[in-house]
Amino acid sequence: MSEESESGMTAAPATTATVLVVEDEEALLLSMAHHLRREGYDVLTADRGDDGLRMARDHDPDVIVLDLMLPGVDGMGVCRALRRDTQVPIIMVTALGGEGDRVAGLDTGADDYLPKPFGMRELLARVRALLRRAPTRQSAPADEDIVESGDLVVNAVRREVRRDGELLRLKPREFELLLFLLRNPGQVLSREHILESVWEHDFNGDARTVDVHMRWLRQKIEPDAANPERIRTVRGSGYLFEG
Ligand code: CA
Repeated sequence: MSEESESGMTAAPATTATVLVVEDEEALLLSMAHHLRREGYDVLTADRGDDGLRMARDHDPDVIVLDLMLPGVDGMGVCRALRRDTQVPIIMVTALGGEGDRVAGLDTGADDYLPKPFGMRELLARVRALLRRAPTRQSAPADEDIVESGDLVVNAVRREVRRDGELLRLKPREFELLLFLLRNPGQVLSREHILESVWEHDFNGDARTVDVHMRWLRQKIEPDAANPERIRTVRGSGYLFEG
């Protein structure tokens, strides 16, 4: 048994956030858990979808790394079940490539998508990025930051959205998107501009990712999502939020 003296061990733990990793490939699961622990995270692991779902509910992790193809309940099933009662950030890991699968992954409520094979540094970067956006982030300023538009009231500090006083359940990315729209009313916003502003550089998204999220947002904030009045599509240009 040798004393560990790896480079980087002098660095302060980045965080004590809890990461749940659900993956049935044992070697990959162990590797991810190892690297996440070295970053200072508390790591929980499950190798079946149903176990992962149970652990998510029992332990309330800060981020979930979720494989798509899993025994028990698959990643999409886990994602959908979780989204009924939590906004925990989810990174969907999948061996399937292609745009259709990416969009399908996002459609289940995942916040990010990581195709296999991926490097551990990439995984750590994605986890960090999602934690930065998480509602429980500790660096939030104490002052309330409230943006209102019609019957919508958004509290940017508490990361709450209310419509007619009723609390809406938005995923972290939907929240960021709504906040961005509210802060740029009456302007035509291109998909590229939206991607850069809301996704920054932590997601290799494309314009369709924006469309998918706009669709979800409309379902939550528009009286009639099929005939949107707040988030208008400007053909050939992008989107416009009616302030
Ligand atoms: Ca798998």
